[in-house]
Amino acid sequence: MRLFFCFAISLFCLNIHSQQSGPNRCVATVKRDLFQSQDGDFIGMKKEQEEVIQDWIKNNGDRVGQRSVVTIPVVVHVLWNSFEEDIPDDQIFSQIEILNLDFRALNVEIGEVPSAFQPLIADTEIDFCLAQIDPSGNSTSGITRKFTNNPVGIGGTSAIHFSDQGGQDAWDTDHYLNIWVAKFAGNIGGTGSFPGMGMPEEDGVEVNYLQFGNLNVEPPYHLGRTLTHEVGHYFNLEHPWGASISDCCGDDFVADTPEACETYIGQCPSHPVVSCSQPDMFMNYMFYSDDACLTMFTGGQKMRMLATLNTIRAGLLEGNICDPVSSENLDKMVEVKIFPNPANDKLFVEIESQSSSGYSIRLFNLFGHEMMEEKFLFGEVELNISDFQAGVYFLEVKNKTKIKIEKVVVN
Ligand SMILES: [Zn+2]
Repeated sequence: MRLFFCFAISLFCLNIHSQQSGPNRCVATVKRDLFQSQDGDFIGMKKEQEEVIQDWIKNNGDRVGQRSVVTIPVVVHVLWNSFEEDIPDDQIFSQIEILNLDFRALNVEIGEVPSAFQPLIADTEIDFCLAQIDPSGNSTSGITRKFTNNPVGIGGTSAIHFSDQGGQDAWDTDHYLNIWVAKFAGNIGGTGSFPGMGMPEEDGVEVNYLQFGNLNVEPPYHLGRTLTHEVGHYFNLEHPWGASISDCCGDDFVADTPEACETYIGQCPSHPVVSCSQPDMFMNYMFYSDDACLTMFTGGQKMRMLATLNTIRAGLLEGNICDPVSSENLDKMVEVKIFPNPANDKLFVEIESQSSSGYSIRLFNLFGHEMMEEKFLFGEVELNISDFQAGVYFLEVKNKTKIKIEKVVVN
């Protein structure tokens, strides 16, 4: 309880500070510093964790080029006191789409990354779904909604994680990424738990409802990048300037993010800008730049996230909580045209839905072996099937919530 009290005081002080000095993008490291000051074992635990992470990277670095996309089940807990805080489903869907586009490097701004940084762009091969199965084994939308009697802003407080304190209990934090969306006091954007930080019941990320998704939100935090940033922390990413901006040019445990001594909060500068010894990657999701500026993770950050996911957060990979191919979902069809069918050397696939989260198209043979995979946003894609033997194949088109499977004949 002493810890909760200290938190409440500290975040209150932080709020006062932020009101005086403008928006506060993220309080993840502030919360970590508080835990560290309260928990004598925390530093030792972090050291052990870091050894595990670095060992995994050392032993698995060469595997990362192999495509093996994993899907993380997400539950979004909406806590509301006033009507506008009870954000609609569409706003939540828009945020999950953004998270997927950002983590898969499918975001539309990816081409704007300066050429010097282009080779460092990473598709993290991490996907997210709204959970389809709740902790009791029942089907779910992956969204909970609850009135909170806290009108000031329960976001960033310990209470947000506990139903009996006006918040919402987490779903099993070993197996779900819990995202709480609520009002925050002050201008705080959000916070995320570093692995092993605090009580398991509080593990996850929190985002200000005014910065969630790209519907009903205002610039400069209107493109859903607050969540992308906080999920980066959840998978163990540091800010590029290191543990604290006061350190300046500190270590983020990632080799391919240049050292920095500037957060770029409230800014969207022109490349190049230098705060340490080389141009800053202010377009990296782990900076505080405006949403429109944030466009990429690096290969080093990908490795650190995958290392975390496969070790400390391996529980997220267990079970079929996303289960996107369940019969229940088959009626959520994608509107898709496939032609010609039968086909010879080319097959065209046309998808009309414009709110796409990056469709994947896969072709399977009769034995279920995947023959081809393509990804695209919407419109028409041409598949070269000139090498295919004559026969029957199955074409699967899907995004996070929709799927369609069609039989295709190759002559
Ligand atoms: Zn942060």
